[in-house]
Amino acid sequence: MERAPKPLSRRLHLLRATLATPHRFARLRAAALVVTLGGMVLPASFGVVGFDAWDGRHRWLGQRTDALGGVVSVIVGVIAFYLVTFVVNALFGRLFCGFGCPSAQLARSAERVEIAARLGSRGGSKRAAIVRTVTLSLLTSAAASTWVVHPAVVVEGSRSALAATALAWLAGAAVLSLHGYLWRWRFCRTACPIGVYYSFVQTAHAARFDIHFEEHRAPCRDCGACDEICPVELEPRRLHLPIVGRGGLSFDGFPARHHCLACGDCVQACEIALRKRPTERVPLRLGFAKKVRLPDDRDAPDAPRSEVLRP
Ligand code: SF4
Ligand code: SF4
Repeated sequence: MERAPKPLSRRLHLLRATLATPHRFARLRAAALVVTLGGMVLPASFGVVGFDAWDGRHRWLGQRTDALGGVVSVIVGVIAFYLVTFVVNALFGRLFCGFGCPSAQLARSAERVEIAARLGSRGGSKRAAIVRTVTLSLLTSAAASTWVVHPAVVVEGSRSALAATALAWLAGAAVLSLHGYLWRWRFCRTACPIGVYYSFVQTAHAARFDIHFEEHRAPCRDCGACDEICPVELEPRRLHLPIVGRGGLSFDGFPARHHCLACGDCVQACEIALRKRPTERVPLRLGFAKKVRLPDDRDAPDAPRSEVLRP
């Protein structure tokens, strides 16, 4: 006799519904991940940075260097990688968190495994969800390893070198899979060092690429679906309000939008709640802020549009 499926949390219930419909955010997420992994692999592959635990082919700015130079090049490369994400933040807010970060995508992928595990065949293929998670973990692990083992080991390495590399990839993938499954979004919410920086400087990015609550686009039904799906427990309609008690490394007192991952889940949940297609308008929007000009609002500060429209 088939066991009764365990109930899903509201987030997973809504996430399952969002996964059922092809969406532009899913395509953007896949493209952003390719860019991130490419950004990890290319500097090491072209000799810009890299320590080589296999054959001593340490490199720095296209030149061979000694072991110490290789270590320094990796450290400088990691700092440069962080700086690139800071530049992305200045232009697009936390777009990297919601779309390009492998850690966040592993959390999302692990949630798909849980949905399938809890709901059986109604939750999609569990095997496909596991393969997806393991593949993502392996790709991330392999991409990161190019900074400490020269990628040429794949074609020029001896059997033992290949076996050692494969073992390192598998170990890294196992850690990443477990990280995604066990820690999930708590890491983004309370422990990610990039996230801490982002939450501190969020107002600094001029374009304000994030979530906007705009009731003139479509009326809100106050169904709460956007609140329920948020992976970091924010209220997407009230991101302008300051929050405290997030825990971990996060700072208290900043507006909630500083902690928003710009993942777009609340927009998708709203589309489902209002029975809209992804191209139709809903009150929540992920994108750049728009300057509002109303007859009685000529000198209003750049407040969220929903606030401006309220009496
Ligand atoms: S408010 Fe929306 S975009 Fe921001 S983290 Fe929550 S669900 Fe994602
Ligand atoms: S999901 Fe959409 S309709 Fe429902 S409360 Fe949020 S903004 Fe309003």
